[in-house]
Amino acid sequence: MQEIRIEKAKTLKQKPDFSKLGFGKYFTDHMFMMDYSDDKGWYDARIVPFGYIPIHPASTVLHYGAEIFEGMKAYKTADGYQMFRPWENVKRMNDSAERLCLPTLDIDFTIKALETLITMEYEWIPDLPGTSLYIRPFMFGNDESLGVHAVHNATFVIILSPVGSYYAEGLNPVKITIENEDVRAVRGGTGYAKCGGNYAASLRAGKKAADKGFSQVLWLDGVERKYIEEVGAMNVMFKINGEIATPKLTGSVLPGITRKSCIEILREWGYTVNERLISVDELLGAAENGTLEEAWGTGTAAVVSPIGHLVYEDIDHVVSENKIGDLTQRLYDELTGIQWGLRPDTRGWCYKVKV
Ligand SMILES: *Cc1c(COP(=O)(O)O)cnc(C)c1O
Repeated sequence: MQEIRIEKAKTLKQKPDFSKLGFGKYFTDHMFMMDYSDDKGWYDARIVPFGYIPIHPASTVLHYGAEIFEGMKAYKTADGYQMFRPWENVKRMNDSAERLCLPTLDIDFTIKALETLITMEYEWIPDLPGTSLYIRPFMFGNDESLGVHAVHNATFVIILSPVGSYYAEGLNPVKITIENEDVRAVRGGTGYAKCGGNYAASLRAGKKAADKGFSQVLWLDGVERKYIEEVGAMNVMFKINGEIATPKLTGSVLPGITRKSCIEILREWGYTVNERLISVDELLGAAENGTLEEAWGTGTAAVVSPIGHLVYEDIDHVVSENKIGDLTQRLYDELTGIQWGLRPDTRGWCYKVKV
């Protein structure tokens, strides 16, 4: 395995007030980087002081958007910290890399890079309830020429950010608007890859929604604008008449690790979970006739986030009296309990590090 060269920062930053973190505003003292070229493979793995990355003006990422990323978290425990299913994130990053013709990562080496960096930045892992150290690995194509082709050079970086709750609402229900003009992804496109381009395509609808006071957009499929796909940075689940329904992974939906974990937990609890097509008509029909019992989003950043309002074509459908539902709460407690090391990790999901 490659060695990781370490260059320590000469001065360390003042840590922020851990009770006022918000999301993604503060960054730790160091970052991990390595470079790739077709002849050398991945080389020069290093941890260096957090700072600007010089980039060639013709770099592929600046023109053609060759960029993928991951989002994961480290949680402080009694004797160190733990990451939640990090193997899944690295595997997904490789799936994203394959889709965008970027080089893939060695899973064990990437986990070692994560562990080395996070252990160095241990003091940055906040310990207040609801806080964690958000981990953002990302990779971009970095050829210094304007030709359009699969990249021959790339850079991989990991940065860390202590975070509080993703939404200003905390665990209170969010208000979501169903978007019927813009689409985020289409089948055959890059929807299942965690890539910057999907977000670029989503910003206009996101802005329109934010201007009207919504937290996020619920996307419909790109072809018929008929089936529910997902919310901005979360997958969605619904409890309809006792059944748990979540959109199936058709290629345009991001295969969330929180989604997968929730499905596994819910099935263990004896619920029927169906990954299937859910049309907007079915969903709003269920909201109107009272069979839509609960709705929530799942994602690393927001964990499990109750949905209190679904607005479509200016009609507001209130879900679960705009309160967090019992099952949503139970799922949130179970998942965060495992992630924070407060509940037993019976499924081998946590990667524990003693510090
Ligand atoms: C990251 C992401 C999710 C959630 O995935 P997790 O692995 O649960 O964090 C859902 N949708 C989109 C578009 C995402 O980028």
